Amino acid sequence: MRPTAWQSRRRVCFVALLLTLAILCAPACNKTKTASASSEAPATQQAAQQQPAALQLNAEPAGSALHVDSARAWQYTKEIFAIGPRWDGSKGQEKLGQYLHKKFANDMVEEDAFQADTPAGKLPVRNIVVKFPGTKDGVIVLGSHIDTNYTLRNTSYAGANDGSSSTALLLAIADQLRGKKLEGYSVWLAFLDGEEAVEHWSATDSLYGSRHLAAQWQQDGTLAKVRAFLLADMIAVDNVDVLRDENSTPWLQDVVYQAATRLGYQSHFYGRTSAIEDDHLPFHERNVPVADLIDMPYGYNDVYHHTTEDTLDKLSPKSLQITGDVILESIRLLNANADHLPIPTGNQPAGK
Ligand code: ZN
Repeated sequence: MRPTAWQSRRRVCFVALLLTLAILCAPACNKTKTASASSEAPATQQAAQQQPAALQLNAEPAGSALHVDSARAWQYTKEIFAIGPRWDGSKGQEKLGQYLHKKFANDMVEEDAFQADTPAGKLPVRNIVVKFPGTKDGVIVLGSHIDTNYTLRNTSYAGANDGSSSTALLLAIADQLRGKKLEGYSVWLAFLDGEEAVEHWSATDSLYGSRHLAAQWQQDGTLAKVRAFLLADMIAVDNVDVLRDENSTPWLQDVVYQAATRLGYQSHFYGRTSAIEDDHLPFHERNVPVADLIDMPYGYNDVYHHTTEDTLDKLSPKSLQITGDVILESIRLLNANADHLPIPTGNQPAGK
């Protein structure tokens, strides 16, 4: 993923903090998701000024908060990372599909598999969706990308933070949903393939899986049932610091922040602002409320991002716990306040 404006990408990458590092930064950004507006401080200020009044959620969720098992989330991260490179068309992609099917052997699993047209020709893309039914009409979708970069296919790159950690987090969340009667919206887990660019990030060379799934769901009417889409990406870095993404839905971010506050984790959320392009965009464009939970830059000046340095030693089980618990608490808040949320009733593109 990357900032919204291509032009701003180089300008920004990291940033405004030290111009002299811009040259060092450029190669990393060419293959990456980047963070950040050209100046983080002014962007944050500006965002604060433009923020509408925070959404007030007054209804208290029933029962007690759910928590992910951080040891299991960490174990899943290690297992997925150990599968190795998972670019589209690789053996790792196939192995990860088998891994997920095994983990969800007793759950409702669907596949959205297709051949994507990419700069490298046709490549297989395989989204996997796992459904946990609730009692209320409507769906909350939790997403993570599962692939690693085609551009890094000749290296050992396996994306511990970028791809592995958030996929593991969804598995750990599933452990908390499975076997329970979900009093509220259904929760679907979307394991999205082909997020990374095959060559250079552009509107047509990125987000292959999420663009296909969003279009499919719009066509078959599924999208109209989606009340919220919460995406996690690169959330396991030690002392996680989730940024406020300007391409997400402000009221849904308010829900996330309120959930974080209820758990005492608010200092890990929204201290910085940036515009991120990620798997939430195809849903956002179709008027689905979205929130991308992402922490960038990854390491000083984003040095670990899309490099073989993206390894387990940079990560922390506690960060998986924080992000997972906040997602679970956000679901509880959405369910408790379902009748008071500004949820769109249709699935038409925004602005129409
Ligand atoms: Zn990436």
